[in-house]
Amino acid sequence: MGTHPSRWPVVAGTGHRELPDDAVAWLTVGTETGPGKLVDGIRWLRDERATTTVVSGLALGFDQLLADAVLEHGDGLQLWVFIPFEEQAARWIRAQRARWAELRAAAHREVVCGVLPIDLPPAGRSKAVNRLLWGRDDRMLHEATAVMSYWDGRLTGGTHGTLLKAVERGMPGVRFNPAARRAEYLPVLDRLVPAVLYHRDCGCVADSGSLAAMSELAGRLARAGHRQWRVRREPSRRTGVGRGGQRTGCARCAADSVRVASVPK
Ligand SMILES: [Zn+2]
Repeated sequence: MGTHPSRWPVVAGTGHRELPDDAVAWLTVGTETGPGKLVDGIRWLRDERATTTVVSGLALGFDQLLADAVLEHGDGLQLWVFIPFEEQAARWIRAQRARWAELRAAAHREVVCGVLPIDLPPAGRSKAVNRLLWGRDDRMLHEATAVMSYWDGRLTGGTHGTLLKAVERGMPGVRFNPAARRAEYLPVLDRLVPAVLYHRDCGCVADSGSLAAMSELAGRLARAGHRQWRVRREPSRRTGVGRGGQRTGCARCAADSVRVASVPK
């Protein structure tokens, strides 16, 4: 872990709201050889990182799985819930609202981070909600030493944005990687920063991905004789890189275009 402190007293959770069923099973259901990965992770925090407190944002999906695991298997771990605004669950279905209320009531500490103005038009409401969600995430990171995340690798959305912010601040943590089916330390910053590969002369965008991935690709292209491709960071951190809608493959760069799969490693 380099210079990171090995004690993580307060750990903030961040993860996707929608998880495939097999990922939920991987996280929560034990097998003959051990408990679900999330239970494993909670115990590892407690025993190896001296964690005393886990903070959940109580959103649907990972936040609630995490809260649940802390309450059921934390064995002395405290659960804090940081609620973005009082009406967080107001538009959920009844069973979801009931579960949210249950977890909230069972928490050892509760913070309601902001106030949603009433009577906003739909567009204004969703803007205000987003602002409150980001504010809540900020507050969680501010109070935490480390992060526990379920991240599928997408460079867009709230989980990515929160992880990016945490790594920029130098916070340590662990990430459940569903594709690899393992828990790992947080990625380095260059693997979280969105970037595009573009042509020097015309600006056409050939590919998008993390700064690390695009830099690596540009290097491979250059070694294969395609030296006109450049990498730049994608400025919009909140929305990340869109794959569609970008100008690509004009007459000027056609000669330099090459199937990425055909570029030697
Ligand atoms: Zn072009």
